[in-house]
Amino acid sequence: MPLLVMKFGGTSVADLGRIRNAAEKVRAEVARGYDVIVIVSAMSGKTNELVGWVNETSPLYDAREYDAVVSSGENVTAGLMALTLQEMDVPARSWQGWQVPIQTTSQHGAARFVDIPRANLDAKFAEGFKVAVIAGFQGVSPEGRITTLGRGGSDTTAVAFAAAFEAERCDIYTDVDGIYTTDPRITSKARKLEKISFEEMLELASLGAKVLQTRSVELAMRYKVRLRVLSSFDDTDEQSGTLVCDEDEIMESKVVSGVAYSREEAKLTLVTVEDRPGIAAAIFGPLAEAGVNVDMIVQNISENAQGHDKPVTDMTFSCPVDQVARARKALEGARDAGQIRYDRLEVDEDAAKVSVVGIGMRSHAGVAARMFSALAEERVNIKVIATSEIKISVLIDRKYMELAVQALHDAFELDKTG
Ligand code: ASP
Ligand code: MG
Repeated sequence: MPLLVMKFGGTSVADLGRIRNAAEKVRAEVARGYDVIVIVSAMSGKTNELVGWVNETSPLYDAREYDAVVSSGENVTAGLMALTLQEMDVPARSWQGWQVPIQTTSQHGAARFVDIPRANLDAKFAEGFKVAVIAGFQGVSPEGRITTLGRGGSDTTAVAFAAAFEAERCDIYTDVDGIYTTDPRITSKARKLEKISFEEMLELASLGAKVLQTRSVELAMRYKVRLRVLSSFDDTDEQSGTLVCDEDEIMESKVVSGVAYSREEAKLTLVTVEDRPGIAAAIFGPLAEAGVNVDMIVQNISENAQGHDKPVTDMTFSCPVDQVARARKALEGARDAGQIRYDRLEVDEDAAKVSVVGIGMRSHAGVAARMFSALAEERVNIKVIATSEIKISVLIDRKYMELAVQALHDAFELDKTG
């Protein structure tokens, strides 16, 4: 039997009516001849409520009990989905993670998949069951305790099952109807993409497009699982949504496929650090240990070199705004311990990052120039630039973020197909 994985996010199972609506979509695929593995999230808002209860009960909670509590939202929706399908005469059975068993590492709250043995589900399908409903976001540790995968983890559960069961496709039903060239709230010219490559989706996901958990895209890329993102609130068919797939499947591709942004960025500059071998390691080592996600890095000649007898340089980097305090503490700690020396730490907390992403960049020159002139025309000043093979990012003043996204969307004609 051909097999599909269908994943329903929190808003798609938010109440009994929506569960029925989702179950209808499952029934339609069964009618088309598929066996289906359904992955469900908790009802929207439920996981937040459970996390809140844990924090209120025990601020320095035992992570094993955190997982015992926060995994429970998915147990409810899995059972309800199986019951709803049974009421529609579709033979269905629900499974919690440990029953499959979904084997994970024992990092509670951030567990990783180790193995998903097929035997139990295969036996059920062989008995004539058409649908296996799996509680997303959870598994079981080698010690036999319930684990969870990190927020948004049901996407990763879905992809892992699609890989383990060699599904024809993994359909992610959510409250948006696909992946867009940029956030439609920023420009009404944003266009839904028919297809996007794994690599581009990975860049967009990690740059702040919140549709898919980044790890789910990494896993899909590794196992070449074709992922489709579509809305559970629309009438959908084979053509609906956006397909995230291997780049070989994408015939025509534009130079730039999308514009991503990240609003809450900070720029930090260490003014006049010594220019010597090992200085970058001495700065970024302590930042990494403190858990600061350093993104862009620039080292340049210091304007304040006068009065220093040894060569000095300025080191600039960016990180999320909410990590500034941690970064400051790590750097001051390194200075007090005599590992680094600097005159001043300048912090700009009003930055945002805007990026253009596209696999077409590999074979086209001039993308950066086009990006910079589009920003120049709008008089947007660039603070830091970073590039990779398929991405160019700039750090700018936060107040110009929307303007920059709109200007770049226009400059690369993302509203037009082909
Ligand atoms: N319910 C979990 C969360 O909100 C997992 C998920 O929905 O993917 O993070
Ligand atoms: Mg989600």
